[in-house]
Amino acid sequence: MKEEHENALKEMYMEKIEGYECEAGTDGEIMKELHELGYVDDKGNLTEIGIERARKIIRLHRLAERLLHDVLSASEGEVESSACKFEHFISEEVEQAICTLLGHPDVCPHGREIPPGECCIKGQEEVKSIVLRLSDLSPGEEAEIRYLSGDDEIIKKIIALGILPGKRIKVIRVFPAHLIQIDNTQIAIDEKMADCVHVMRI
Ligand SMILES: [Zn+2]
Ligand SMILES: [Zn+2]
Repeated sequence: MKEEHENALKEMYMEKIEGYECEAGTDGEIMKELHELGYVDDKGNLTEIGIERARKIIRLHRLAERLLHDVLSASEGEVESSACKFEHFISEEVEQAICTLLGHPDVCPHGREIPPGECCIKGQEEVKSIVLRLSDLSPGEEAEIRYLSGDDEIIKKIIALGILPGKRIKVIRVFPAHLIQIDNTQIAIDEKMADCVHVMRI
């Protein structure tokens, strides 16, 4: 499949199914080809196989974003341009390895849904995740906060406590609450909050 086709499917899915605004409309020639390939119906809507294909491409794009952002600490510009190249050549095996490594993330750094893959559905945990939830850490473990995701209200509370991406933490205890140390301060947070904080072990 040509890159132009993949990009067009991705944009159509984001616009028509997810409701995001996309800048450029799809080129007439590309639309004709997508129709011939069975990805688009007579009315210009995605067919079932078109949707399936688009979800795969979007999944790769957003997984690549997570990888570049969380593990490689790439800048925002780099994340965007590299993710756009990544999505066209990651094989299914590599895709599942990356997903498992990241702990089967459900959103990209922009907060957009990552369509789940086979590995997420099976919940394979054979490969130890690099990025995990704060609630998965044991007392004595140290980690760096990579990103926050979850309920907006909970995220606000977490940020207000100074628990921010880039900060290093040490887990003091996990019961009855998660007691963590950041800089010289100890902060207690509940399980729900600890679930929203994604960290990387140091
Ligand atoms: Zn994104
Ligand atoms: Zn997965």
